[in-house]
Amino acid sequence: MTPPDILRLDTVTKRYSPHLPPAVDHVSLALGQGEILGLLGPSGCGKTTLLRLIAGFEQPDEGDVYLTGQSVSGSTWLPPERRDVGIVFQDYALFPHLTVEKNVAFGLQRRGPGAGAKTGRGGAPSAAAVQQHTEAAIALVGLEGLKHRFPHELSGGQQQRVALARALAPRPAIILLDEPFSNLDVQVRLYLRQEVRDILRQVGASGVFVTHDQEEALALADRVAVMNQGHLEQLDTPERVYDQPASRFVAEFVTQANFLPAQPSPQGWKTEVGCFALEGGADPATGLADLMVRQEDIALVADAAGAAVVRDRQFLGREYKYCLQTPSGRWLYARLPVGPPIAIGSQAQVTVPSGRVRAYPSQGVTVASPGNNVLSIPAVN
Ligand code: ADP
Ligand code: MG
Repeated sequence: MTPPDILRLDTVTKRYSPHLPPAVDHVSLALGQGEILGLLGPSGCGKTTLLRLIAGFEQPDEGDVYLTGQSVSGSTWLPPERRDVGIVFQDYALFPHLTVEKNVAFGLQRRGPGAGAKTGRGGAPSAAAVQQHTEAAIALVGLEGLKHRFPHELSGGQQQRVALARALAPRPAIILLDEPFSNLDVQVRLYLRQEVRDILRQVGASGVFVTHDQEEALALADRVAVMNQGHLEQLDTPERVYDQPASRFVAEFVTQANFLPAQPSPQGWKTEVGCFALEGGADPATGLADLMVRQEDIALVADAAGAAVVRDRQFLGREYKYCLQTPSGRWLYARLPVGPPIAIGSQAQVTVPSGRVRAYPSQGVTVASPGNNVLSIPAVN
């Protein structure tokens, strides 16, 4: 018999107000043992609400949450302290008056019956067990020398390690991390995210990791769930989410790709900067489309007859980022390996390797202008 999923959400819906769209809208997904799910989406799309529903801080209006095969939010309601779940918050949420050691031990001491399988299910763990699990969790996050310090005596990165140790100490069935690195500077963030991934792997923990950072989700997760306005838009491997975005929203949010209005022609999809072939040959009968063109797929050749004008060029160390303007005034962004630069103001020809563009139903292209103002362009009729 296959073991039950660690976590399963069945059409979970949460409305904060009857007058507003649901914050979480019929979300269904399942998480296997040892799997790390990246929950990715823009601010306000419902990520924290979804975590709060899993943890039991919110009750769904519809649907149910299952933890290790047990319904916890339907006919039976399990309060947060009885769910076998560890949580790491964005703001660390450590107790300022407790040392590292006491912060970590806190999560073990307060676990009541029904939670914390490895600490003695059915009762509070012994002092010796608390001590042992505390030491192990502190060692796991590499803070052995700092266990007598108070949170204010630690850096942000160290505080977040304490929070992780506190959440992991009872060896919960699942760990939920809500944007755990967003208060840290970029260096610490990059380092810690790798470390957290290694730690979760080392203990075989299953986790849901919330982030609004595409790169973080792709780098950390076994599978990525992309949310938009309460809906789950795509649940897939990082590679497939990036390569085969299920919707225009996913393509835009995850890959920050360009979109060009296109119409079918015998040569492929015709756009104002050229014709692009689709892998496998798209059905031209589907009508108009918005064509996704990834920034890194564009090749540029300086050409007086080229359709695009180079308006700006930024040197980013490993690559150039070009800002191009199409004849109708749309902006296109292209990332090219460092080579002889194309002069600002010159015309350029835009090409894309065959099979790299994807067509989405036309909805009028929205393009970010160089000033970051969003310029809305109506659909082509
Ligand atoms: P995210 O974590 O992705 O930024 P949230 O889950 O915090 O999103 O919020 C989703 C939506 O629900 C937002 O529109 C937010 O304003 C709303 N919301 C969140 N918490 C509450 C609350 N306690 N009461 C009313 N509305 C809320
Ligand atoms: Mg949030």
